Amino acid sequence: MELKFALEAQDRQDVGGDRRYDVVVIGGGPAGATAALYAARANLRTLVIDKGLTTGALGLTSKIANYPGIPGEISGAELVARMRRQAESFGATFVQAKVQAVDLEGEVKTIYTNEATYAARAVIIATGAMGRGQRVLGEDRLLGRGVSYCATCDAAFFQGQEVAVVGNDDEAVEEALFLTKFARRVHFVSPTPDLKATPHLREALAQHPAVVLHAGAALREVLGRDRVEAIRIAPRGQPEQVVPVNGAFIYLQGNKPITDFLQGQLPTSETGCLIVDREFRTALPGVFAVGDVLCNHVKQAVVAAAEGAVAAMVAEKELHGRRQLAVDWAK
Ligand SMILES: Cc1cc2nc3c(=O)[nH]c(=O)nc-3n(C[C@H](O)[C@H](O)[C@H](O)COP(=O)(O)OP(=O)(O)OC[C@H]3O[C@@H](n4cnc5c(N)ncnc54)[C@H](O)[C@@H]3O)c2cc1C
Repeated sequence: MELKFALEAQDRQDVGGDRRYDVVVIGGGPAGATAALYAARANLRTLVIDKGLTTGALGLTSKIANYPGIPGEISGAELVARMRRQAESFGATFVQAKVQAVDLEGEVKTIYTNEATYAARAVIIATGAMGRGQRVLGEDRLLGRGVSYCATCDAAFFQGQEVAVVGNDDEAVEEALFLTKFARRVHFVSPTPDLKATPHLREALAQHPAVVLHAGAALREVLGRDRVEAIRIAPRGQPEQVVPVNGAFIYLQGNKPITDFLQGQLPTSETGCLIVDREFRTALPGVFAVGDVLCNHVKQAVVAAAEGAVAAMVAEKELHGRRQLAVDWAK
């Protein structure tokens, strides 16, 4: 995997003024969107970086009926969209991107996506717990040798070749569509018969002439000696198939806290959850964590939202409480 940010070691002070924020929230589910709402309402310049509306636990929930103030049933995606619109109405900005890495030491934090680098005085981590734990056979061995988790980073290596994308949400579909610009054929392997991506993306995927859809098929193994040569999949009710491909882009979800982009910068519990104090501060000053990425024994949208509110208020107090910061964004 060749990640742009790793090759271009940027000086954090080079981050342009339009990409400097008081608060950057990573993850835009109920925890992150509510944190953004409170931070923006407190006049903090606030950015939320999120992978996509239907990639989090709430965003992919078909119906929710127990969120206070929302009687009746509503889809999780619509509820998250409403939270985001409310945060935007107070001035928060949302960008759709995956955070690949962060540098959380020091007064200015740096946040890297494939498209841009951002700087922040405070960071609120709200990435949820949809991360994968177990890998399939061959995946770890062939990582960087055709197995990838980032089409934006690696698609160009597969010019004119055949690749597989495994997943079923917005992120997987968008990455597959991006790959069609390079690969000759994209095999889209969805573990579920129906895709969970938003309708216009599903449509775009279904209509694309370079895409072959394998719906309701589990990924069993990535095959190859030194590089990916094929994947083995198990379509429901049918015999297993070996599909020859040169690359396998995997976007499956599980139930582990998503902390990979932190690269060990913050302590976690034995089960991989971020550790915080009662006001959601992590071990590093100016860095907070909220929602399902913590080991909450109650995983509910209203709890995640409440934590986002508390963290934003504490961040606001700390940012405004500091004397004029050594970092002056106005310069
Ligand atoms: C099937 C199901 C049904 C549920 N039903 C209910 C219910 O009825 N009522 C209820 O109250 N709760 C319900 N829950 C629980 C609720 O959805 C969660 O507790 C809540 O969504 C947690 O919010 P969160 O913001 O912490 O995480 P999430 O909602 O998971 O949001 C995290 C966000 O972070 C983004 N993200 C992750 N990694 C990155 C990255 N590297 N870069 C950028 N963005 C990133 C994700 O894409 C996602 O948008 C349900 C959960 C599930 C799985």
